[in-house]
Amino acid sequence: MGDIWVLGAGQLGAMLQHAAMPLALNVNTIDIYATEVPKLNDDDIITVELEHWPDTIVTQTLSAHPNFLNRETLKIFADRSIQKKLLDSLELPQAKWHMVDADISVEKLHQDLGTKVLLKRRSGGYDGKGQLWLDQTENSDLPSDWQGQSIAEEKINFDEEVSIIGARNSAGECVFYPVTTNLHYQGILLASIAPTAFSKALQPQAEAMLTKLMDHLNYVGVMAMECFQIGEKLFINEIAPRVHNSGHWTQAGANISQFEMHLRAVANLPLVIPATKNNSVMINLLGMDFNPAWLAVNGVEVYWYGKGVRPMRKLGHINLSLPETRKTRQSLEQLKPLLDDYYDESIEWCKQHL
Ligand code: ATP
Ligand code: MG
Repeated sequence: MGDIWVLGAGQLGAMLQHAAMPLALNVNTIDIYATEVPKLNDDDIITVELEHWPDTIVTQTLSAHPNFLNRETLKIFADRSIQKKLLDSLELPQAKWHMVDADISVEKLHQDLGTKVLLKRRSGGYDGKGQLWLDQTENSDLPSDWQGQSIAEEKINFDEEVSIIGARNSAGECVFYPVTTNLHYQGILLASIAPTAFSKALQPQAEAMLTKLMDHLNYVGVMAMECFQIGEKLFINEIAPRVHNSGHWTQAGANISQFEMHLRAVANLPLVIPATKNNSVMINLLGMDFNPAWLAVNGVEVYWYGKGVRPMRKLGHINLSLPETRKTRQSLEQLKPLLDDYYDESIEWCKQHL
């Protein structure tokens, strides 16, 4: 078998490389802005760690390779409006939404979508960036640089945010991890827990929705579906056609991580239903320096990405997967003073959801 190339050289690519080692798969990551393109062989496979990219020599060359996986799917997920149209056409539930064409008025958006309307850029948004709330009480005009380049969504008053990570191979076999419960802070994922008692009831619904989507796309690899949960019903927030931050807990909490599962799917190796250990917690490390004291906390597994420190930037994560929830709670308490103050609420949230 040839090499596996990952378009993008961030932490997701690095964790795919890490997961490749036990299987002796050769995984290489490529920075989309690199000025030289390595020589690829005909039997190499190309996968991605991101869903939208500018035209560069690297992205052009890699996406033109015959074994560039999920080519058509990635075009859909590069543009939020095309993604939303696809979900509608498959009758998969999602928030009410509107195209933000140049001639649409703020009044019309409020009329159709309610008092609180969220504009999201059609491409390039991540970690809550590329979003703008319109508030009817402020009587704001539509900013010109959002016209034609964004979609508008109703505000969802969700009970919880959840996600499911699934994988599909070229034979159409699908496997899933337990539904994950997620906490966001200022649009950024802060903590995940899986499995939880309440999320078990959502599993069949989540699996059916993601299976429908992956089958329709004839998708190969790991796909993540982020949802809002209201009562017993799930509404899709967005889809990530790649490994996803809300699946990082699988590195500690499952016998096969989402990264290995993705590699198995793209390299046509056997997919198996992952066995989950314990109730796992993942905490993102945002905008802070590395602290060796984290490593002394019982059960803590740290992944540090080695990136430059910037406010609210995802710089690493902590996984905890202990057999006794009592011990997980103790470790969370020990972590509290080792993290910024705004983590206090999320530690409480984790303890409540365990
Ligand atoms: P990601 O980093 O996951 O790619 P993103 O920046 O692309 O995130 P979304 O996942 O669409 O953006 O939104 C980020 C968060 O903002 C959501 O997880 C949720 O907490 C909140 N949010 C998004 N859409 C809505 C909505 N329609 N109603 C209420 N909250 C929302
Ligand atoms: Mg999201």
